[in-house]
Amino acid sequence: MSSDNSVPQTPLVQSLPATVPFVGPETQERSLGRPFKARIGANESVFGPSPKAIAAMQKAAQEGWKYGDPEFFELRQALAKHHGVAPEEVMVGEGIDGLFGYTVRLFVEADTAVVTSLGAYPTFNFHVAGFGGRLVTVPYRDDHEDPEALAEAASAERARLVYLANPDNPMGSWLPAERIATLAEALPPDCMLVLDEAYSDFLPADALLPLDTSRRNLLRFRTFSKAHGLAGLRVGYVIGHPEVIDSYNKIRNHFGLGRVTQAAALAAIEDQDYLAEVVDKVAAARATIGEIAAANGLNALPSATNFVAVDCGHDGAFAKRVLASLVEQGVFVRMPGVAPLDRCIRISAGKAEDLAALAEALPRALAEAQQS
Ligand SMILES: *Cc1c(COP(=O)(O)O)cnc(C)c1O
Repeated sequence: MSSDNSVPQTPLVQSLPATVPFVGPETQERSLGRPFKARIGANESVFGPSPKAIAAMQKAAQEGWKYGDPEFFELRQALAKHHGVAPEEVMVGEGIDGLFGYTVRLFVEADTAVVTSLGAYPTFNFHVAGFGGRLVTVPYRDDHEDPEALAEAASAERARLVYLANPDNPMGSWLPAERIATLAEALPPDCMLVLDEAYSDFLPADALLPLDTSRRNLLRFRTFSKAHGLAGLRVGYVIGHPEVIDSYNKIRNHFGLGRVTQAAALAAIEDQDYLAEVVDKVAAARATIGEIAAANGLNALPSATNFVAVDCGHDGAFAKRVLASLVEQGVFVRMPGVAPLDRCIRISAGKAEDLAALAEALPRALAEAQQS
């Protein structure tokens, strides 16, 4: 029996556009009909995970028939020890993206105001839309997120959440710890600062705000996807006041993290030497990207992340043509979505061969962008 009537979805879902925040490189490879030569568009770590994490995953694979520990007990203990906080002040989840979904669900209902920067990390916005929140944006200032403007908008709109990434994606810029502390102070007590620190491993140590879990309106998000090279495993965590952290237990997917993932993250956090090696390799790759940009007359923006925003020197349409040609030539990169940030393309740290492919493709990409 078939019927033309479909089960009605909620009015909220019916009102949402059919958007996808990111088109994956696999999708692009399928439409190109060939694999990319260089995968330097999604800020993954081409340097891969720690060999100790790989060994831990192999071992855990044997026990794949068991569900993962729903309390993430060992991993939370290790993270707490590493950061000098209590295990009750850490919650683990399916990447920062998964934790954003839970966080928005905790605080946002129909028409709740949420403040972010225009052009900032889109997955957060995607969750806000999914829970019916009202997104308010403030512009970047000189390629940096503008904490004073965020605080002003939060007060004016009576926002429940304010999002800021430090260091920032897509620009790679960062703010000194004092500016973040001032923002946290400026927010009303009923407004949560969602501080996305996906790239904190690359931040100069003196730019990192000390952890203070006594504050009930500050949550700090970290991930194993970037410096730890475990993007494909989906694991991140949030640090905050224990009462706020405990509330995730009311709504989270308790079996959301498999054993292999938990074992990988545990081994990775315990291998700080490997992490330091990666951070050094990334710094060297950023310098090489800067040299490639300069050799082509382009300006690489300063970055405290594992990617570099390269200013293509014209508008978004021009940068889009550069990007299209790079992709066509087998170099996967991405770009910011909104002016004036979209004059840039965003290039992730690569190995020597990845950056050689970039150096080879960029002159033709610029020539093609000039012509049309
Ligand atoms: C990569 C990234 C994330 C996603 O982290 P996952 O843990 O992989 O979900 C979140 N925020 C920013 C700013 C990122 O660049």
